[in-house]
Amino acid sequence: MTTALLRQIDNAHVWHPFCQMREFVADDAPIIASAEGFELIDTDGRRFLDGVSSLWCNVHGHRVLEIDRVIREQLDRVSHSTLLGLSNVPSIELAAELVRRAPTGLTRVFYSDDGATAVEVALKLAYQFHRQKPQPEARDLFVGLSAAYHGDTVGTVSLGNIDVFHHSYERLLFPTLRVPCPVASQRPPNVDANSWQQHCLDELERTLAANAERIAAFVIEPLVQAAAGILVHPPGYLRRVRELTQRHGILLIADEVAVGFGRTGTLFACEQENVVPDFLCLSKGITGGYLPLAATLTTDEVYTAFLGEPASGRTFFHGHTYTGNPLGCAAALASLKLFETNRVLDNAAECSTLLTRRLAEIRDWPHVGEIRQKGILVGIELVADKATQQAFAPKQRIGHQVTLAARRRGLFTRPLGDVVTIVPAPAMPAELVNRVCDLLFDSIREVVLENK
Ligand SMILES: *Cc1c(COP(=O)(O)O)cnc(C)c1O
Repeated sequence: MTTALLRQIDNAHVWHPFCQMREFVADDAPIIASAEGFELIDTDGRRFLDGVSSLWCNVHGHRVLEIDRVIREQLDRVSHSTLLGLSNVPSIELAAELVRRAPTGLTRVFYSDDGATAVEVALKLAYQFHRQKPQPEARDLFVGLSAAYHGDTVGTVSLGNIDVFHHSYERLLFPTLRVPCPVASQRPPNVDANSWQQHCLDELERTLAANAERIAAFVIEPLVQAAAGILVHPPGYLRRVRELTQRHGILLIADEVAVGFGRTGTLFACEQENVVPDFLCLSKGITGGYLPLAATLTTDEVYTAFLGEPASGRTFFHGHTYTGNPLGCAAALASLKLFETNRVLDNAAECSTLLTRRLAEIRDWPHVGEIRQKGILVGIELVADKATQQAFAPKQRIGHQVTLAARRRGLFTRPLGDVVTIVPAPAMPAELVNRVCDLLFDSIREVVLENK
């Protein structure tokens, strides 16, 4: 099929996620036909450096021999069989490898298919856990951070707090408690940075203490709220959340769907503050960005509360058709192995240092507001007025304009509103990360400096 015909059919039938379809149709987005290393190649043979690792999931690049081979070998055995009443080899092997690498005490692995379901599973497990404790408690509230994003199912949207994504569903959602996240961009204009941090810690403590008997779990993206615009928490915040939740018997759900698998510098973000959550939600990078798979890890304490006679009502009645898919689990096993053989975390550390250096070049540019970085997660907030941090009018679509300018230069990127992101694959070589910076900075210059 020609590109023109494919585009015609795409526009006639495919509804793209998180896209205003009127804009998408007008934009003639590239149609990807293949990939090589860290480049995507479209039907016309144009190459795009993958600057956001295919929406934060690619780890080792595309068409990696070792992962391709393992998937092909698994295809020759079995592509899928259910975990309902059966087991399969790769899901067992992967569970052991995940437990071995996760914070100590997370010994039980519940599989699902994507990030939202990984969190949804944790919410339901936490809720049911309290009802089945030796001294049952009816805790029906969850606490989330302001600007939270945990996926697009109704349960995870209930925990979400990004107005453009979530406000349409407001009346459909279960009520949650909200604490302010301790970052500059959430700070009211008349409050200074120190008082804001203190206020956020006070609110955290007050909310948990005041509602302790009713709170089932606290849900947090550890260290960085990615979809919120790469918001980086101050050091010690996660530690404090763990101390307070522990004190009040509140379960801690760590949503590492975005930050897991090397994005913040360690394999899992929780490691950096020596935090063991009660639930660790993993997806995006788990298969190296190859196949849909997710895992919710939890403790023996939670697991044990679900044991009993079949008639006891303690069964966890939740599952998905493709739970523990053997192809996905095989890809995940191969990806974990590559982390070690290719020293991927060392590469990510090198790229993190490189990014810090490169970002300093644009810090003084007009319209470059706050620059936020943790590991290889970068958000560059573009603003209309640098002095007041006044945002651009949404209808100017500044972030989107940068995406289009980047595309003309052979770079694929996707902004979060007017926050332009750099999210390289953890294994992307430093010279390519450098090139991502070159192309992206040129695109920013074109859109906010030359057009003004
Ligand atoms: C992407 C993301 C999700 C949702 O994952 P899906 O696979 O898109 O359902 C959940 N939590 C966080 C932090 C994410 O970044």
